[in-house]
Amino acid sequence: MIHYRLRCHAEHEFEAWFQNSSAFEKQAESGLLSCPACGSSAVSRALMAPAIQGTRRDAAAVPAEDPNAKPGTEVQTEQKQVATTALALKQELLHLRRKIEQNFDNVGDRFADEARKIHYGDTDPRGIYGDTTAEEREALADEGIEVGTLPWLRDDA
Ligand SMILES: [Zn+2]
Repeated sequence: MIHYRLRCHAEHEFEAWFQNSSAFEKQAESGLLSCPACGSSAVSRALMAPAIQGTRRDAAAVPAEDPNAKPGTEVQTEQKQVATTALALKQELLHLRRKIEQNFDNVGDRFADEARKIHYGDTDPRGIYGDTTAEEREALADEGIEVGTLPWLRDDA
């Protein structure tokens, strides 16, 4: 038995089973096949969409080089973009810092102890910030206490 996907002249698609491919051809030629939707006997095999798991090329391809571009133009643009990004990042960090200072409790170098106390319910849960060493952060992580780190910028930096 062969499974065919069929289509009538009005684009209705349906499926049918045949003994073999010549049985399909014979039935189609003698007009025995008809579309269940419209009854048309102008039926042919529909092309099965192949299921391809292809390698999709990255759409963000490298732009073609402009032959008229002056040498050096590209580099200047790039440096400017980097500077803009760095400035935006710095402002973002300062903004974040202010938010933390307003809402979080500064515990200084007692940070690891306080974080541990909060984690184990020994003190009121609250947002805290302070200093830790790499060792302290590692120890906290080992205990399952998640700690975020961010570069602490000075306003005049
Ligand atoms: Zn039809």
